[in-house]
Amino acid sequence: MESDLRLAIQLKQFELYYQIQVDDNSHAIGAEALVRWNHPRKGLVSPATFIPLAEETGLILPLGQWILESACAQIKSWEIGNDTRHLVLAVNVSARQLAADEFITQVENLLRSTGITPARLKLEITESMMLGNVEAVISIIRQLKALGVSFSMDDFGTGYSSLQYLKRLPLDQLKIDQSFVRDITTDSSDLAIVGTIVAMARSLSLSTIAEGVETEAQRQLLAQQGCSSFQGYLFSRPVPIAAFAAVLQGYGAAQGAA
Ligand code: C2E
Ligand code: MG
Ligand code: MG
Repeated sequence: MESDLRLAIQLKQFELYYQIQVDDNSHAIGAEALVRWNHPRKGLVSPATFIPLAEETGLILPLGQWILESACAQIKSWEIGNDTRHLVLAVNVSARQLAADEFITQVENLLRSTGITPARLKLEITESMMLGNVEAVISIIRQLKALGVSFSMDDFGTGYSSLQYLKRLPLDQLKIDQSFVRDITTDSSDLAIVGTIVAMARSLSLSTIAEGVETEAQRQLLAQQGCSSFQGYLFSRPVPIAAFAAVLQGYGAAQGAA
């Protein structure tokens, strides 16, 4: 599959899907970009299959560059529309990509060439990135933050969570992992964990978003715990950009959301 993947990058067989993120009034505040591989024979291939391979082989570097370029182009086009200019686009960044020497320059160049408001770009990182050279990772994230981009900690609560590094990372948001959301209506420990994450986020001045929200009952419990934004099939599945406009129309723009 490696040669397939290499070829796919040359042929640009990838597409970004967009999954809406909403606030506690169910107004659109942004989206997460989720990459898909339109394989000529296999059809749509899930990132869970090819992202790990892309990481192993280093192909995540050209792929990640393409993802970032596409994401920034999308933000630029949103910035033109009155109803879309406030939307923040979250982009997943892999460990290898973040650690690459050229990453900061890549982001800087993209921000400059597109002229987008840097805060409209939110980079999603994961706790596993803190397993290697913590000091180096913190330094990279701080430099990126200085460019004005925002940061969310994806899959929060599933990895190596240290309050030491949380304190030192210039994050904007904790993204509560879907494993805590799934059984929140029946499992009181999950409910308690979510409450604890939200309280901790508050005390660190971070916002929270829950992912994998599939039912209204889950949304209500999350909101009761103080979670301020949501993403999941309840609102929409990830969709191609052409379909995303219709999704957005169903969730009127949040006033003054940034
Ligand atoms: P993630 O960043 O944690 O993304 C959330 C995953 O949950 C997505 O799977 C999304 O489609 C799925 N999801 C969203 N709402 C629901 C829901 O209500 N219920 C359930 N059961 N699932 C939901 P997807 O798109 O297959 O992506 C899987 C993972 O692949 C992502 O996890 C991320 O780690 C990685 N990935 C996706 N796109 C990119 C990318 O552009 N770059 C990198 N480096 N990784 C990516
Ligand atoms: Mg993510
Ligand atoms: Mg996640």
